[in-house]
Amino acid sequence: MNLHEYQGKEILNSFGVRIQRGIVAHNHIEAVEAAKKLTAETGTSWHVVKAQVHAGGRGKGGGVKLAKNLQEVESISKDIIGMMLVTPQTSAEGKKVNQVLICEDVYYPGESETEEYYMSVLLNRETGRNMIMYSTEGGMDIETVAENTPHLIFTEDIDPSLGLLPFQARKIAFNLGLSGVALKEMVKFVSALYTAYIESDSSMFEINPVLKTSDSKIMAVDAKVALDDSALFRHKDYAKMRDFREENAIEVEANAAGLNYVDLEGNVGCMVNGAGLAMSTMDLIKQSGGEPANFLDVGGTADAERVEKGFRIILKDENIKAILVNIFGGIVRCDRVAQGIVDAYKNMATAGDAIQVPIIVRLQGTNAIEAKQLIEESGLPVHSVVEFQEAADKVQEVLAS
Ligand code: GDP
Ligand code: MN
Repeated sequence: MNLHEYQGKEILNSFGVRIQRGIVAHNHIEAVEAAKKLTAETGTSWHVVKAQVHAGGRGKGGGVKLAKNLQEVESISKDIIGMMLVTPQTSAEGKKVNQVLICEDVYYPGESETEEYYMSVLLNRETGRNMIMYSTEGGMDIETVAENTPHLIFTEDIDPSLGLLPFQARKIAFNLGLSGVALKEMVKFVSALYTAYIESDSSMFEINPVLKTSDSKIMAVDAKVALDDSALFRHKDYAKMRDFREENAIEVEANAAGLNYVDLEGNVGCMVNGAGLAMSTMDLIKQSGGEPANFLDVGGTADAERVEKGFRIILKDENIKAILVNIFGGIVRCDRVAQGIVDAYKNMATAGDAIQVPIIVRLQGTNAIEAKQLIEESGLPVHSVVEFQEAADKVQEVLAS
């Protein structure tokens, strides 16, 4: 689960990581109030207005702007709230901005004395350990740094049984070229950051930029935080931070119905039981000249109700040209699934939502023959196949016609 910058910063702050202070505003009136409050608390007279959407590169898209007085806070907030923000990480259509974070300006007073660094905490899949990735080249796209100057990206692997050791935090600060007060500040920052990552059960932290202020404070100016969904049950307060407006509407609906669904770009919908079978079914669709429109794992109980829900969700995608149902009857019997498909088909027709695209059904396993018979005898325009290859051929045939 991804968080907004302001939520990520809240979590960091709760673990003692220094952050650029900010207050969320939903309209320009709240924005001006927020700016006044920040001035009272921090003494700042300049503010930064930052669009809160789940996408990076907001600065480049005009979603992060400096305001030098309250009039500018007001006018910039008016411009940004409600806009469709397009960044290198969004679609061409962009993302609607529902709220902004009004921040204290931390590049005071001499911008020339500030430094920007890059820092992330994530799993190193090669070593199976968490690592801190960092660079002197902060504030810009890390992918660009990786391409042009890969020697300026450092990594520090962390032994899970020992945690981050003090010498590792110091090494990071040295490698970033720090000394004196700033070095001490960075050691504190890195240690708190790693604790926050572990304690919050996050799967990724990306702080870009980490800022060294002109008075040698080290702080997080940006925060991209991804929490591990599987651990949310032990962080009820974080679970509440979920912003459904930022997520794919069909995925949200499917997940609420207990279906494991991921929306994709293609033209062939698929409904499968088991994640492994779903992956190979998507390969099969690709080999047949189609493109999978989704990943959908209906799970163990593929009864009429679940199958109908699955069809309805798949069909919300307007690019669907065919649906491939690929179910392995191990615990669930194929004939029961077949009955579920027939019932779902009929129910939808009765409800005035008749399925218009061809459906190819492959049922293999317990009672597969009975299942094929049941579908054929139902008189519905459903293609029933048994072998994997037959399913592939049928998809190809249907797409060509
Ligand atoms: P991103 O573009 O989505 O990564 O958003 P960031 O939070 O990283 O902000 C983009 C850029 O805005 C940063 O790289 C900074 O250069 C700039 N910025 C952020 N906070 C301040 C600030 O307090 N003062 C000034 N002058 N610039 C800031
Ligand atoms: Mn950033």
